[in-house]
Amino acid sequence: MFYLIAGGAGFLGSHLCERLLRSGHRVWCLDNFLTGRKKNIEHLLKEKNFLFTKLDITQPFPEEITSTKIDGIFHLASPASPNKNSPKSYMHFPLETMLVNSLGTYNLLNLTKKHQAKFLFASSSEIYGEPLIHPQTENYFGNVNPNGPRSCYDEGKRFGEAISFTYLRKDSLDVRIVRIFNTYGPRMDPEDGRVVSNFIVAGLLNKPLVLYGKGSQTRSFCYVDDLVSGLILAMEKSKTKGEVFNLGNDEEYSVKEMAHLVREVMGKKLAIAYSSLPPDDPSRRKPNLEKARRILGYNPKVKILDGLLKTIEYFKEELT
Ligand code: NAD
Ligand code: UDP
Repeated sequence: MFYLIAGGAGFLGSHLCERLLRSGHRVWCLDNFLTGRKKNIEHLLKEKNFLFTKLDITQPFPEEITSTKIDGIFHLASPASPNKNSPKSYMHFPLETMLVNSLGTYNLLNLTKKHQAKFLFASSSEIYGEPLIHPQTENYFGNVNPNGPRSCYDEGKRFGEAISFTYLRKDSLDVRIVRIFNTYGPRMDPEDGRVVSNFIVAGLLNKPLVLYGKGSQTRSFCYVDDLVSGLILAMEKSKTKGEVFNLGNDEEYSVKEMAHLVREVMGKKLAIAYSSLPPDDPSRRKPNLEKARRILGYNPKVKILDGLLKTIEYFKEELT
């Protein structure tokens, strides 16, 4: 198959490009490096089945893209970190975030239609907002602040979902949505500001791990290899057209527990500090994975201590 990966130079996208290449597919990576990095795909550039074009997907596509027959499109292009102190976060790029999830999705859907390709939209657990049911199932509509500081992302993703399924209904496009829950692993950007990378970077520099609020809020952390398996299953399995899947890991930890896990894996007695809780920071988050397990055969396997160890090894090299 010939797959186009929008956002392929990012954390998740670069792992997806690599896995698809290793499975014998051809891959065309599109990215404007807004939050991704060339170094994530540098090792793939010499491969004959890998193409890269630096491009902003909110802009009209050049003819070389519109005229090339593509079998499937993964839309992963979007800033993804909520940390307002990070230069890579969606708080730093609010309009870019809204546009890549709206106009960018529209452009990719038109390309999907032209080639009668398959399409996967990478949505987020953020569309559940501050969830009133727990764990979250795909048929839960969410509880989102429509104009708060996170809304550029949350509502961007909700629009991306809406336009994807508008094309499904209007033109019967072969579209599916995945809602990704917190994923971590090698190639996270040290400046990205998400909790796992922040704790590991702080730990390697022997600085305190800073908990926002009391650190009692929970998340469910998925290792990148498991998540990538889920993305490919959602694209390739039959009977996924028109479906929405939660993808992630359903082991739930408080942020404080995560700090203790990072200390344990690093073998360091790192100090813990506290800072204020950002507005609209969800208090609980855990996917119900029953649908992904039943329809996709999805089964996250990597244990948290193993995943953290691999991620720490990566950051050790990154920071030296
Ligand atoms: P990332 O920032 O590492 O990757 C996103 C990529 O998209 C970057 O390479 C960036 O340069 C690119 N991009 C952004 N705007 C673009 C544009 N206009 N044109 C072309 N490329 C553009 O983030 P990630 O963690 O790899 O996330 C990938 C996708 O998965 C995002 O859509 C994100 O919302 C979603 N997601 C991720 C997580 C997670 O835990 N990592 C959780 C939920 C959802
Ligand atoms: N968080 C924290 N310290 C950090 C970074 C994040 O306590 O250095 C908290 C954050 O407030 C949130 C949780 O960790 O409650 C997960 O944050 P992240 O940015 O990784 O993802 P998201 O909020 O999008 O789930």
